[in-house]
Amino acid sequence: MYTRRKLIKALAISSAALATDGLFISLKASEKSEKRVNKQHIITLSFDDGFKKSSILTAEIFEKHKLSACINVIATGHLSSFQIPDAYQITEKGDFGLWNELKARGHEIMMHGYKHAHKNEMPFEQAKDLILRCIDVFSKELKGFEPKESIFNFPYNASTPELEAWLPSQVKAFRTAGNGMNPLPFKGQVKLTCTGFGPGNSEDHLNAEIGKLLAKPSGWLIYNMHGLNGEG
Ligand SMILES: [Zn+2]
Repeated sequence: MYTRRKLIKALAISSAALATDGLFISLKASEKSEKRVNKQHIITLSFDDGFKKSSILTAEIFEKHKLSACINVIATGHLSSFQIPDAYQITEKGDFGLWNELKARGHEIMMHGYKHAHKNEMPFEQAKDLILRCIDVFSKELKGFEPKESIFNFPYNASTPELEAWLPSQVKAFRTAGNGMNPLPFKGQVKLTCTGFGPGNSEDHLNAEIGKLLAKPSGWLIYNMHGLNGEG
């Protein structure tokens, strides 16, 4: 039987997915055929910024549905020296104690920058240095972290062609701005693009995007989210 985890593994991609009716249909089909089927829908809700309260609640909700959440955190977000990068990040961040706990519970904890900088507004070398520092912190702090099995989620989804060309030498894939509709996971897929809505409640927009996804024969919607109950 294909559990979600096995399916994702089979597709050689490491990203948390939220099952929809479409995905359940495809899971059943996969059980029968043991190979990728044509009609398949995957949704990743990609939660950014590592808000402590929201991350705990997000993980609990996903656990209720036997799914793993995708939580992207800032390497230095928990330190007292962390400088708030924008007006939405004023609440407490989780620390690596929490991230290790959530990872041990089966959730995906991924990189969302060293200090949440706009990497498209600085020289390449500086942006590269920040990413390497981010990888370094995760390697030291997050148990079982493997850069080459990880996704770098650009802060503000702000990348540059130069960074996009270099980054696959360091990580498995990266998430940046673009169309939220991605091809189904395939081996060697390095660029993931996402959509989102904000500031404000993204539920209606998300529902519309899910509708668009399900109207397609197949696809992978990556939807960028932040906190719950107004946080972030
Ligand atoms: Zn962010």
